Amino acid sequence: MKILDNKIPSGPLAQKWEHYKSSVPLVSPANKRKLDIIVIGTGLAGASAASSLAELGYNVKAFCFQDSPRRAHSIAAQGGINAAKNYQNDGDSTYRLFYDTIKGGDYRAREANVYRLAEVSANIIDQCVAQGVPFAREYGGTLDNRSFGGVQVSRTFYARGQTGQQLLLGAYSALSRQIASGGVKMYNRHEMLDIVTINNKARGIIVRDLVSGVYERHSAHAVVLATGGYGNVFYLSTNAMGSNITAAWKAHKKGAMFANPCFTQIHPTCIPVSGEYQSKLTLMSESLRNDGRIWVPKKSSDQRIPEDIPEDERDYYLERKYPSFGNLVPRDVASRAAKDRCDAGFGVGETGLAVYLDFKDAIKRLGEDAVRSRYGNLFTMYEKITGDNPYKSPMRIYPAVHYTMGGLWVDYNLMTTIPGLYAIGECNFSDHGANRLGASALMQGLADGYFILPYTIGKYLANEIQSESISTDHEEFDKAEKHSRDINQKLLNNKGLKSVESFHRELGQIMWNYCGMARNKEGLLEAVDKIKKLKQDFWENICVTGKSNIINPELEKAGRVADFIELGELMIYDALNREESCGGHFREEHQTSDGEARRDDNNFSFVSAWEYIDKETKQKLNKEKLTFDEVNLTQRSYK
Ligand SMILES: Cc1cc2nc3c(=O)[nH]c(=O)nc-3n(C[C@H](O)[C@H](O)[C@H](O)COP(=O)(O)OP(=O)(O)OC[C@H]3O[C@@H](n4cnc5c(N)ncnc54)[C@H](O)[C@@H]3O)c2cc1C
Repeated sequence: MKILDNKIPSGPLAQKWEHYKSSVPLVSPANKRKLDIIVIGTGLAGASAASSLAELGYNVKAFCFQDSPRRAHSIAAQGGINAAKNYQNDGDSTYRLFYDTIKGGDYRAREANVYRLAEVSANIIDQCVAQGVPFAREYGGTLDNRSFGGVQVSRTFYARGQTGQQLLLGAYSALSRQIASGGVKMYNRHEMLDIVTINNKARGIIVRDLVSGVYERHSAHAVVLATGGYGNVFYLSTNAMGSNITAAWKAHKKGAMFANPCFTQIHPTCIPVSGEYQSKLTLMSESLRNDGRIWVPKKSSDQRIPEDIPEDERDYYLERKYPSFGNLVPRDVASRAAKDRCDAGFGVGETGLAVYLDFKDAIKRLGEDAVRSRYGNLFTMYEKITGDNPYKSPMRIYPAVHYTMGGLWVDYNLMTTIPGLYAIGECNFSDHGANRLGASALMQGLADGYFILPYTIGKYLANEIQSESISTDHEEFDKAEKHSRDINQKLLNNKGLKSVESFHRELGQIMWNYCGMARNKEGLLEAVDKIKKLKQDFWENICVTGKSNIINPELEKAGRVADFIELGELMIYDALNREESCGGHFREEHQTSDGEARRDDNNFSFVSAWEYIDKETKQKLNKEKLTFDEVNLTQRSYK
């Protein structure tokens, strides 16, 4: 087993980052101009990183597979972004945001990273306001806040239900400025297919131009992955349809360890699945739980419409079970509670797999116009999809896959186990432990891109100033390009009878049924078997139509699904190995008498960091021990 060095600076927690910043080696402006950096992904993490690095003077090449950075999945983020500004004077502080995040993550995140995140959170808001992001304001003009799950303060900044879109427009304008001035060369519609390592350092990438089908080589002194999360391994999720694991998975196969792959977030408030034909699920933002109340009928299999069910026959089960936090318990807790009620026969709607999210009281208290001004676009979206008017009758919601806490293992510098390869935003594992609190992903992505990576990457690059520009004629580029071409050719040549979509759907069913909201040993072992068969079936029977030298979405998707299948297998091994329940990872064998997650701190207070050996060998587990100097590990309680 390898000892993983997380490179956390010494000294008191609250001074680590300050001390790091003042002692980290710097790269002079003249040398920055000689250094090339590749950034894959231009969502919030990637766009903020690419623009900040170019602003510093590095030569940046940025890549995304969409036709514009503005279409990154980040644009879908609805509810808001956290920051410890304490504008509400309700007791918030850097320490409280740090503490809430560590506790919310069920004590499976690193203290030092999380503290740094809380520290820089306030700067993000200032940066975004300066860019013109139209955060909601109170009547007097000051920025407004609302609450998200797992906290008792209001620290979430928002722009109606479109916060991600507005933040991305801010980051995109910063990026555009750099594209126009030549600091960033932008490659839209390019998909990274492999990472190139030379003498064990990240030195470049292989991409395919998705329009012409041409394979390209790009070299750099450092490579940054900002490629988002892998929730689509479940097929049905709230993620954008294109979100995928390929870049991170290819890096994993070249030596970057993959951390906590089984830590998946199931979001409690999504529009329920309504039929087999569905390929996408829609989130109803957690912010709705500020004013919406969740309930089911007290009588099981109650067929009455909600309006006909009197108050005393409604079970507001979150308020009943968790009086301190009520409807704003964290996502993992709220999701399990919904599943528990539905499994017990109290679910509503045609499938019985739904609970109500009701705004009746909020509308009575605040008026319909006030509710519309806070959540109008979400209500419209709900009505468009379901045909029901949530101002008149409660929304029906059910948990769905939403976010992945696992990702590439990174140290305090955000560097993976491949020197010179960084991972930021949702594609790393770093800050959210076993359960991310709402509105913390945008905070982390922008913290990484605007405020952390621009310092930490300099530490590595300060030692690279002697390296000349790297030639793409190196044999490692030849090998990597050939490998990428071979995979695509194999997919095209196979001429099987099953569609890519059918394999993806089958994979999703295995993952959801056996490695979803609840997991157990027997089911996970069965899933290993099923997934191995699925992998074999995929490579024997896949049918990919079209050619490689033109736009071919089937080919793109086939490569992504092939990687998802391999990742799914690793997720199952990770879930099997972690013989405890924590956050979103709920092993049915490990629960308290009242059905809450039971951690095993003696044996599992570590980050699982999986190392790829080869395709025949089971992957190797390495561990990073988690130590807690500031917080006491307790049974998480929101009662
Ligand atoms: C519906 C929804 C609502 C959400 N609401 C909130 C919220 O209110 N608050 C909050 O904090 N979080 C929210 N989240 C989570 C948050 O949106 C994401 O975690 C975050 O936006 C991820 O940002 P990112 O920059 O890491 O990745 P992304 O935005 O996913 O960007 C990934 C980028 O990588 C590129 N890419 C990927 N693979 C490749 C490849 N192989 N080659 C080239 N380019 C590649 C893509 O083109 C894209 O540019 C929400 C998530 C969902 C699904």
